[in-house]
Amino acid sequence: MEQYISVPRIGVYPGSFDPVTMGHMDIILRASKQFDHLIVAVLNNLSKNALFTVEERKDLLRKMTADIPNVEVDSFRDLLANYMRDKNAHVIVRGVRTITDFEYELQMASTNHKLNPDVETIFMMTNPKYSYLSSSLVKEVAHFHGDLSDWVSPEVGQALHQKVKENGGKK
Ligand code: ADP
Repeated sequence: MEQYISVPRIGVYPGSFDPVTMGHMDIILRASKQFDHLIVAVLNNLSKNALFTVEERKDLLRKMTADIPNVEVDSFRDLLANYMRDKNAHVIVRGVRTITDFEYELQMASTNHKLNPDVETIFMMTNPKYSYLSSSLVKEVAHFHGDLSDWVSPEVGQALHQKVKENGGKK
């Protein structure tokens, strides 16, 4: 008879989180209920033009998730498939907003499964309230000093307006 050993179910939610939005937070909250432990992993991608440093993005995420005990914030620069091995995690969580998201996600999920066959990707449908929301959109609105209160926390909103000020209007 096959023996089942109970191991903690670890989920990894990877992304840029530049910066974290209410759409990300909705996925984090829902995913945290599906796993014993959820790692929110900030992609440290040097080639991507980010507004916030990885440390700043992690700080904001940590503040936002401080009340969810089974959520940890980390970053990675290696292949996600290898990071999953290091963390002994088998499930990648991704959010899907649109058909366009889905096509890209399907490609990524297949690639990650090929690189690490122990890994499955699960998709969580966006909360319809946030289906149009992305970090790029909030950065664009922040650039023109628009109201961000429905899309990010007050802390993230402040950080965004501060960045815009520091950059002197440059994106
Ligand atoms: P973005 O810059 O588009 O916000 P990220 O790389 O930070 O992208 O996103 C990480 C993950 O979160 C991706 O799976 C993305 O599809 C998902 N995501 C981002 N915004 C939302 C949202 N509003 N609703 C659901 N999922 C989202």
